[in-house]
Amino acid sequence: MNILSGQSKTPILPLRDIVVFPHMVVPLFVGRDKSVRALEAVMKSDKQILLVTQKDAVNDDPTTEDLFTVGVLGHVLQLLKLPDGTVKVLVEGGRRVTVQDVTLKEGYFVATASDFEETDTSSQSLEGLTRAVIVQFEQYVKLNKKIPPEIMTSIGQLDDTSKIADTISSHLALSIEDKQALLEMPNIAERLERIFSYMENEIDVLEVEKRVRSRVKKQMEKTQREYYLNEQMKAIQKELNDGDEDSVDDIAELEANIKKTRFSKEARAKAESEFKKLKQMSPMSAESSVVRNYLDWLLAVPWKKRSKVKKDLILAKKVLDQDHYGLEKVKERILEYLAVQQRTDKVKGPILCLMGPPGVGKTSLGRSIAEATNRNYVRMSLGGVRDESEIRGHRRTYIGSMPGKIVQGMKKAKKSNPLFLLDEIDKLGNDYRGDPSSALLEVLDPEQNGTFQDHYLEVEYDLSDVMFICTSNSLDMPRPLLDRMEIIRLSGYTEDEKVQIAKRHLIKKQLEMNGLKPAEFSITDTALRDLIRYYTREAGVRNLEREISGLARKAIKEILMKKRKTLKITPKNLERFAGVKRYDFGLAHENDAVGVVTGLAWTETGGDLLSIESVMIPGKEKTAPTGNLKDVMKESVRVAETLIKSRAPALGVDPRIFEKKSLQVHVPAGAVPKDGPSAGIAMVTTMVSTLTGIPVCRDVAMTGEIRLSGRVLPIGGLKEKLLAAVRGGITKVLIPYDNAKDLVDIPENVKRGLDIIPVKAIEEVLEHALVRQPEPISDEILAEIDKIPPKTAENQAEDVIHH
Ligand code: ADP
Repeated sequence: MNILSGQSKTPILPLRDIVVFPHMVVPLFVGRDKSVRALEAVMKSDKQILLVTQKDAVNDDPTTEDLFTVGVLGHVLQLLKLPDGTVKVLVEGGRRVTVQDVTLKEGYFVATASDFEETDTSSQSLEGLTRAVIVQFEQYVKLNKKIPPEIMTSIGQLDDTSKIADTISSHLALSIEDKQALLEMPNIAERLERIFSYMENEIDVLEVEKRVRSRVKKQMEKTQREYYLNEQMKAIQKELNDGDEDSVDDIAELEANIKKTRFSKEARAKAESEFKKLKQMSPMSAESSVVRNYLDWLLAVPWKKRSKVKKDLILAKKVLDQDHYGLEKVKERILEYLAVQQRTDKVKGPILCLMGPPGVGKTSLGRSIAEATNRNYVRMSLGGVRDESEIRGHRRTYIGSMPGKIVQGMKKAKKSNPLFLLDEIDKLGNDYRGDPSSALLEVLDPEQNGTFQDHYLEVEYDLSDVMFICTSNSLDMPRPLLDRMEIIRLSGYTEDEKVQIAKRHLIKKQLEMNGLKPAEFSITDTALRDLIRYYTREAGVRNLEREISGLARKAIKEILMKKRKTLKITPKNLERFAGVKRYDFGLAHENDAVGVVTGLAWTETGGDLLSIESVMIPGKEKTAPTGNLKDVMKESVRVAETLIKSRAPALGVDPRIFEKKSLQVHVPAGAVPKDGPSAGIAMVTTMVSTLTGIPVCRDVAMTGEIRLSGRVLPIGGLKEKLLAAVRGGITKVLIPYDNAKDLVDIPENVKRGLDIIPVKAIEEVLEHALVRQPEPISDEILAEIDKIPPKTAENQAEDVIHH
């Protein structure tokens, strides 16, 4: 039975690729004649039309069998005829209907439609399921961008479960068959379940799709971001280099440099691998600057660049003579050393060490040797180096790390066979951070230094072509280091030598340095001698050179300000230009005094006069000697005391005096530490002088160790001490007899100016040092003294002492 009253059959609009659900409003394009006619027919009546999907979408001319039997009864809302004869209609789906008796009438299909019975329509029993479907649908909408999200609001307003199911069905992306199956399902619960499972599948697919999409997007973003940042960085770099070729050229230059450099095999491999790393790094990263810095070092150090070494000994002698006055023995030793080196062709063998006080020309001799042998010259001061890594460098992992001083020096040298002067090797420190001397040992050992390891450089560096020369003020250095060296001693200069050095070298050098012409400055010999005597007190000529430099500066000022042509320094105007005298020259002491003795000391800075004094103080209690004396010198004070006690009467000393009084020995200039046994005879002399009250001759100085037997033992540093004596205006010097053989090394003019007396025993010392001889106290007198009661005995003793 037809559901529409008054009309037996309803026209059909066959649908090709859509299933219209109840309550759906859809626009349709209609072109087929049958369809257009059907529409025309309904427009004339009640606008009701059956919307039935055809089984095969591609079938252009379906027959009655080709249509599904379930559809909806639609209502045409609007119809628009398009110029090409087709029609656009807007239809709204109505009830579900079953279509029967489909026939062709007046060129279009008609059929009877009956209501499609739905089952299980109670929305209450379906509530749970419906809610689940809605939630699922919401999820689906979120994932599927094609469905407008507003749909959720309209679904929320629906309370008919069937309607909800149909609305959702219409929005699912399903095949025509699946949609039709949903339309034909009478049981609502089943329909909802089917929808649910469709959505589940679909959501899975959509989620995978979404994941893939977002991954792709992220990847794209990342590459884009990197690309963008890289481009920016390049732009910044270009800006920074400001017109300079950008870093690409820089890298190319580096590569060319690496190719060009004659590395060791190991260094080449290292340089190439580091370069490869650098190329892959972003040029602005901290890491790349570390690698860059490292490569710069590798390139800067000379690997196989040698200068051609001159082997002409005659020329070497000429250069040494030209630059240095005197020092005959030293130059001779240096030439011998060079000769041996030439024969053995390698710089193997002991390392030359120039030892002597400051300012005697050690460093400048080093420079001359470099010049004479045509080696490049580098100098490195070891003073205060206390850390092994200062020699060997820090590992590259430290920020700002650098190679050690040796490799730094090699970079400065620019050639792989320079003369490397290690200055002040005796000032090498040593503490918890590792012993630098052991690293230095490796540097100086010809067996090992071919493969020197610097922590920063990482690759071995060959030092075997380097000529090392050390300088030092003393022999105070680790034994293994000392064993490796050939010591050449330089002692101080005499006054005459200083005058000559100044006239031949220093003045010329300082005039040049200060931009003066030779005619603009002169100094008379006597003024020069005064300058040496009253303005300097040193073994070398360093301060003298400084004083001359000062005078040269004054000369320029005079010439420029007072329009003078020349400045001549004479003894008269010396004080005006050099300032007030700094030192006294002449006798150490003004008078012969009791207990005051002049000793001679050797120090790292040359020889020096040493005042030694003593006084008697009441009380038996002994006080320690003062004046910053170190152990050995303290011991020589005790030795002297014991010696005197053991033979007091023979030395004219009343033995009982030691019961009442004691001696206090002092060596002035307490700020300077003093050590060594060579003041022994001076200690005895001061004590005997104090005990006997006999003054000491002021023009006598002495040096010598003393034994308990009274014998005088030899000492070191004789030349330095004699020079100091001359500088101090001493005329008579007592030296140990065993040192007399060393006098051959002492310049004639020193010997001429001094009365040098070798002494064997303490009696001889006293004979020359005291203004008169103490009278030995005979046994008879001693016996007499013993008889006198103690009180008067003291007076008696004083008597004896003062005669
Ligand atoms: P050192 O290294 O022993 O402390 P330097 O080599 O620095 O001494 O010498 C100090 C200055 O004295 C230098 O200008 C040096 O040329 C000069 N000098 C030292 N001895 C002589 C010498 N015998 N002849 C010429 N100049 C000298």
